[in-house]
Amino acid sequence: MSQLFDNYIAGEWRGSDHRIDNLNPSNTEDVIGRYAQATPDDVDAAVNAAAEASATWSVSGPLQRHAVLSAVSQGILARKEELGYLLAREEGKTKPEGIGEVARAAQVFDFFAGETLRLAGEKLPSVRPDIEIDITREPVGVVGAITPWNFPIAIPAWKTAPALAFGNCVVLKPANIAPGCAHALAEIIAAAGAPKGVFNLLMGSGGVAGKALLDHKGINAITFTGSVDTGRHIASECARTMKKVQLEMGGKNPLVVLDDADLDKAVECAVNGAYFSTGQRCTASSRLIVEQGIYDRFIDALAMRLGGLVVGDALKDGVHIGPLADESQLKKSRDYVEVGVKEGARLVCGGEAVEGDAPGYYMTPALFADATSEMRIVREEIFGPVASVMKASDFNHAVALANDTEFGLSAGICTTSLEKATRFKRAAKAGMVMVNLPTAGVDFHVPFGGTKGSSYGPREQGRYAAEFYTTMKTAYIGI
Ligand code: NAD
Repeated sequence: MSQLFDNYIAGEWRGSDHRIDNLNPSNTEDVIGRYAQATPDDVDAAVNAAAEASATWSVSGPLQRHAVLSAVSQGILARKEELGYLLAREEGKTKPEGIGEVARAAQVFDFFAGETLRLAGEKLPSVRPDIEIDITREPVGVVGAITPWNFPIAIPAWKTAPALAFGNCVVLKPANIAPGCAHALAEIIAAAGAPKGVFNLLMGSGGVAGKALLDHKGINAITFTGSVDTGRHIASECARTMKKVQLEMGGKNPLVVLDDADLDKAVECAVNGAYFSTGQRCTASSRLIVEQGIYDRFIDALAMRLGGLVVGDALKDGVHIGPLADESQLKKSRDYVEVGVKEGARLVCGGEAVEGDAPGYYMTPALFADATSEMRIVREEIFGPVASVMKASDFNHAVALANDTEFGLSAGICTTSLEKATRFKRAAKAGMVMVNLPTAGVDFHVPFGGTKGSSYGPREQGRYAAEFYTTMKTAYIGI
């Protein structure tokens, strides 16, 4: 009999007639549990509870918020190994990646515990006599957070922590593919002493629970991370219902490798950026743009390195690449391999489904060479372990190829030239630039986000998160 996991609404755990199985993608016979699916009535109850709690939490002051956020950080750390295992079991990242992500969630809460004490305003002189002006930041109110499955604890953390720190109440709706970590986060927040209604968890589908959140008049702001299509829909729904909105969406991130690059370093950046976490990262380097003088050597060295990677059960030691997160993710990646071959790109290695010891969604990392900018494998986000190499004639051509995309999240360059690295930093149309580093892998105390089709609205993370999670009040004081 599988364990049952309930939604957390108004300080209580609430079951549902409808539940889904949370399956381990490394072994689909392993059912992690049966997770409640929120109905529109559950959404209504959670949003009303959050709105009611908002009256006191919004004026609770930094000390209480600091105490709750610090306790959440410590609560996550105390369960780091267990939750890292759960994350690997439900999402398919390797165990070390899972533990690392859990530690990151704890750091995020710790950082925003500190931010409760640092929320500053401004005081300006008036243009009129005997008037002073105060500009202060106030909470937005009730924040709906809609999150994807690929960072099932870090993304809920980096939306919930700033929201609570700045005095908002939260209704979190995680993705159905990996709801277990969000459920564990709700347990930790409940134990950390957040007053009832301040944080609510609604597991469920986008079409039912997500839609009800978007429709609800009691939600003041929606923060979303997920695909471009869903983001576009959410933006238009938020415009219709006048909600503040922030969207973090897909990527098709370039990693440029110049002739003067350190080859070993460039290969490591590509392996990490394109294939770790099974390529299921919005910041994955799915476009490798390589200058002609190093092109053949880079492809040979990368193919050799990929051949040494172990694909298998995410929970086993020594595995480098876990499974795709579910059947549709595996099918999508394998379909794109076929598309790439049909489009005329050269499949250097990988792309095959792999049998594990148990039924799971395994695939070997696929590398295409001789790809061109108009190919679908180069234009569309695959979100799996598939990368395509394009040849650049020189630095300027490489920059033009790097920017030839609808996305603009992260862009990387491998070079030993300070001048070219600096010119790339200036020219890249992306929210984040990496020099001699993988395009994926960021710090938690600085802004995260992109340009063009990757992001919409204020940045997430670091102190810049206040832009979204607060609203400005300008007070004129006559003396
Ligand atoms: P998705 O868009 O399918 O789902 C994301 C969330 O939206 C889920 O909780 C889902 O239930 C919900 N949702 C779906 N339809 C909805 C609707 N009509 N109304 C309200 N909610 C709805 O994305 P996914 O497959 O979970 O995640 C993968 C995507 O996320 C990729 O495109 C990836 O690049 C992106 N991503 C972006 C970032 C970033 O910070 N830029 C980080 C991680 C993932």
